Amino acid sequence: CGIVGYIGHREAYPVIIKGLKRLEYRGYDSAGVVLYDQGELKLCKTKGKVSDLEAKAEKELDTTGTIGIGHTRWATHGVPNDVNSHPHYSNSGNLVIVHNGIIENYDPLKKELIKRGYTFKSDTDTEVLVNLIEEIKKQEHIKLGKAVQIALNQVVGAYAIVVFDKQNPDEIVAARLGSPLAIGVGEDEFFISSDASPFIEYTANAVYLDDEEMAIISLDKPLAIRKIKDDSLVDPYVQELQM
Ligand code: GLU
Repeated sequence: CGIVGYIGHREAYPVIIKGLKRLEYRGYDSAGVVLYDQGELKLCKTKGKVSDLEAKAEKELDTTGTIGIGHTRWATHGVPNDVNSHPHYSNSGNLVIVHNGIIENYDPLKKELIKRGYTFKSDTDTEVLVNLIEEIKKQEHIKLGKAVQIALNQVVGAYAIVVFDKQNPDEIVAARLGSPLAIGVGEDEFFISSDASPFIEYTANAVYLDDEEMAIISLDKPLAIRKIKDDSLVDPYVQELQM
């Protein structure tokens, strides 16, 4: 299972596909990608290999866009199939998430969301999390980062997640607990991935998130790392990788 995200000035799709291939060694059963371009999210996902995703994308995905998130899934909740593959949208279609790990208390959270009118397309724990974030964001009238922080405090489990809100497209939110995430810091661009192999050819500067940390990644602001528990700021520690 793996994650590759990109925000910057390059075409995101080739960076993501190449990155997902570098993460194949981690094992997976499905792959998917979402791209953001001109106000719209564009999604393509499939059971199978990254090469199957490429074949599908060639037929049905407009691959332009300089923001995107890709995922390889190792199914834990819901069989490996196209619908259960990531990324997953929230009910409004504004939020999109990829997730590695398990949300252990997804069942009571899902029941509560269904009571509030949410519907679910997949059998994944992940689709519960993205809708929980959406519900909190709506109730509290807050931005994505704060909603993710509140949601993760209600979650029991392990995760690396990357979340994007098409209504606030200048930032990407990433968080980790028990599953690795590295942020590649380039010139006016950021990479987010399970290890540094997808971005080593573009930048030597990496920030590794620690457990219980989240990052707000934006082209207009310095990288902000916060503790999920209390929202306090952490100084980003930028490591220089050996190229
Ligand atoms: N629990 C999630 C699912 O089954 C994520 C699995 C993974 O780590 O790829 O969809």
